[in-house]
Amino acid sequence: MISVRFAPSPTGYMHIGNLRTALLNRLFADNLRFKTGEEVSYVLRMDDTDLERSKPEYEQAVYEDLKWMGISWDRLEHQSERLDRYRSVVEELKAKGRIYACYETAEELEYKRRRQRARGLPPVYDRAGMRLTAEERRAYEAEGRRPHYRFVLEHKETSWDDMVRGPCAYNGEHLSDPVVVREDGTFPYMLPSVIDDMDFGITHIIRGEDHVTNTAVQIQMFEVLGGRIPVFGHPPLLTGREGKLSKRLGSLSSRELREEGIEPMTIACLLARLGTPDPVVVCRDLDELAKVFDLSHFGRAQPHFDPDELFKLNPRILHEMSLEDVNARLKDEGKSPVSADFWKAVAPNVAKVGDIADWADVCSAGRVFDVPAADRDFCRTAAALLPEGSVGEETFAAWTSALKAQTGRKGKDLFRPLRLALTGREQGPELKMLLPVLGREEILRRLQG
Ligand code: GLU
Repeated sequence: MISVRFAPSPTGYMHIGNLRTALLNRLFADNLRFKTGEEVSYVLRMDDTDLERSKPEYEQAVYEDLKWMGISWDRLEHQSERLDRYRSVVEELKAKGRIYACYETAEELEYKRRRQRARGLPPVYDRAGMRLTAEERRAYEAEGRRPHYRFVLEHKETSWDDMVRGPCAYNGEHLSDPVVVREDGTFPYMLPSVIDDMDFGITHIIRGEDHVTNTAVQIQMFEVLGGRIPVFGHPPLLTGREGKLSKRLGSLSSRELREEGIEPMTIACLLARLGTPDPVVVCRDLDELAKVFDLSHFGRAQPHFDPDELFKLNPRILHEMSLEDVNARLKDEGKSPVSADFWKAVAPNVAKVGDIADWADVCSAGRVFDVPAADRDFCRTAAALLPEGSVGEETFAAWTSALKAQTGRKGKDLFRPLRLALTGREQGPELKMLLPVLGREEILRRLQG
């Protein structure tokens, strides 16, 4: 069984980076499912131990955003409901001598780090807590200090073969023993994440490159706890055009993208390829995209994320949509379904779903558009010359050659007034395709003003 997880902290709205992590895990797992036929489990884990900053509305937003993206999960877990489990593991680690109490205040720690830096040393915690005698500890507690606890990192090399970065190794000597219980008894991210990954049988962890050093620490935690060590993959973080991903881009939330009219599949198709040498493929759904997904194609260079690329890709994604998909999307937006003829006519001319509804409105029965006074007679002649019988895609050619012969008009002088009379716009879908959508009665009404 392949198990992946997406572990957001519900302390804000999801941005493009979170969406990407959620998506890469889904695509990776589904790709393995298609390739091996193995069962897949996608765990959605709320990292909500920060009770003050975690908010139910952010959690709701995670559910909504994932559903919008088409990312489903098989299991939902909340870290806030697992505190007893974390406490019992902490006791186990204390008993094994892998956790020790420390009493420094934040200021004291900062002072130590400053001194180390001034002496050209890395700011690694000096393990003073480990050397405290029982008496010193009692003295601190008598002063009113409460302990925080650190995990003992073994001073050895910890290595793993990263699915994106290749072989990685860190020596514990160069890392600070991480705090695993704060003074107030709450848990920082590091240990609970390992406990959960172990308990939920997570086999593969895909997360941003900002977690690479955590991986060395967490592997040591898996080792002491006797858990199976997952396979890790750390794709590099996205950057903006000027290097670092700007505040605005970095915080570009999925809701903003949704409000901008970007299709979820546009985001998925771009993010699945950004950072790989492979061209974007236009896929109709996540399953199709998962089949061609390959995490090993991700490079180590930070990919540039340019929201304009989403706007450029969106029309291509829309054009490829089937009538069923389009009508499902219109339904989401509270709009009426459209016909196959209509979709065939307008698909090449829409950049956003909203444009489809606009064109549906243009084509709806009973609309009449203004034409310049100088073109009114021409339009009446056009009405008289509309070929008999039902209007099809072939009507346009016969009709316009008759019109040309009769009026001597050609090119823009011929087509522009027709387009204006029929659609009220200078540009739009091919008239040839629009004629059958409008139908005889509507064409005549529009031409006759
Ligand atoms: N809540 C953590 C984060 O959002 C999860 C990190 C992880 O995937 O292990 O960064």
